[in-house]
Amino acid sequence: MAVFSNFIGGEQVAGTQTVRNINPSNTDEVIGEFASGTAADVATAVAAAKAAFPAWSRTTPQERYDILKKASDEVLARKEELGRILSREEGKILAEGIGEAARAGQILAFFAGECLRLAGENVPSVRPGIGVEMTREAIGVVALITPWNFPIAIPAWKIAPALAYGNCVVIKPAELVPHSTWALVDILHRSGLPKGVLNLVMGKGSVVGQAMLEHPDVAALSFTGSVATGRKLAAACVAANPMKKFQLEMGGKNPLVILDDADLEVAVASAANGAFFSTGQRCTASSRLIVTEKVHNRFVDALTEKVKALVVDDALKLGSHIGPVVDQAQFDQDERYLEIGRKEGAKLHWGGERLNRATPGFYLQPALFTEVGNSMRIAREEIFGPVAAVIRVKDYDEALAVANDTEFGLSAGICTTNLKYATHFKRNSEAGMVMVNLPTAGVDYHVPFGGRKASSFGPREQGAYAREFYTMVKTSYTLAG
Ligand code: ADP
Repeated sequence: MAVFSNFIGGEQVAGTQTVRNINPSNTDEVIGEFASGTAADVATAVAAAKAAFPAWSRTTPQERYDILKKASDEVLARKEELGRILSREEGKILAEGIGEAARAGQILAFFAGECLRLAGENVPSVRPGIGVEMTREAIGVVALITPWNFPIAIPAWKIAPALAYGNCVVIKPAELVPHSTWALVDILHRSGLPKGVLNLVMGKGSVVGQAMLEHPDVAALSFTGSVATGRKLAAACVAANPMKKFQLEMGGKNPLVILDDADLEVAVASAANGAFFSTGQRCTASSRLIVTEKVHNRFVDALTEKVKALVVDDALKLGSHIGPVVDQAQFDQDERYLEIGRKEGAKLHWGGERLNRATPGFYLQPALFTEVGNSMRIAREEIFGPVAAVIRVKDYDEALAVANDTEFGLSAGICTTNLKYATHFKRNSEAGMVMVNLPTAGVDYHVPFGGRKASSFGPREQGAYAREFYTMVKTSYTLAG
């Protein structure tokens, strides 16, 4: 059985305890034993990061560029293998796994470039003979806590900017998917990172995550996960002395509006992809399909046909469109919401059955609810599974109102051929990201990612905007004489 250790201070450090990583497409298959860290491991990792910080934060942009670029090259060269590692532990299909691995490589390349582009500003003072400079500096030791649904892209989009701007890192991936982050950290180490700059402590949120939060030498936290955990961590960051800077990416209940004038093919493709691909386990999933009444029945029929044709099977099997749900707990949650929806009076139009395949896994047929009211729990709470709710509305105005009537505000989409509605929706949607004739999920890596309301807190992630979080600004005044 393969055993995977933590990376602390540039060394692989075996854990006193390990946990088994299981393949959700075949629960008989154990991927490996992964270290389950302790508070003491976190203390050693933070100390190593703190010790590495003075030298790392003063490296030249070229040195940081070279390391990130080298790591990017290896990730891209090994994308098939990394994609397989990812799909095997998370359950998204291989094409998505490889795509995500490639994205991690592209992110590393983008932030390699950002090392060279980081600039300050120089302005004249309002007082005579004085110059004013605004520069950006690294924050220090940054804690990164990541979820299971994007096992390599999210670690990459937090690690890459953290390192590019001169910070040192302690990262804790989600317990269900440690292998992908382990592989990424291994690549970065072999790309020339000095000891202690990047530390990986795998294990439980309540142990490892908690210890990261409690450590006074952790200056900042970037978190992606559930709303409940995010709130808890935010409170801990504020209660700390000194307070920790924090950034949270949490849930979504993303609306996709389909208007009467939509291109039906585009609308159906956007809905099927947005709601069900990656097993619906994306915070940007199109979980509320808000459809105007004249197109409603045609849309539901066409979407049902499309969804019926989707193959749910082993993530690594060629021909699968949708892999299994990630684990038993998430499967139970999906089934619970199917029951809640039925009890609330929604109609389970299609799907929602547990499926048996050649191997034991958490296979769930995509489920489409119709006759959903926006006040029902299945329209308000994030299910995080292949379950979508169709909400019928009268017209565009009602569609927009329903789309915005949610505590979340991550992504929102509209399918229409009318420029007036598309433009109005972009302007008036209360979401951080708006899509026209596209699924609510599926974003570029070089532009900001993030939401509003209960979905997100703090500066945006990704693209050049990432520097808002991973640097702090210094204003210097010089008497020119
Ligand atoms: P999910 O429902 O996606 O598992 P969580 O918010 O529970 O969302 O988990 C996201 C990440 O936060 C994981 O890496 C998890 O281990 C971590 N985590 C969970 N609870 C805590 C906690 N109390 N302190 C720190 N990290 C935590």
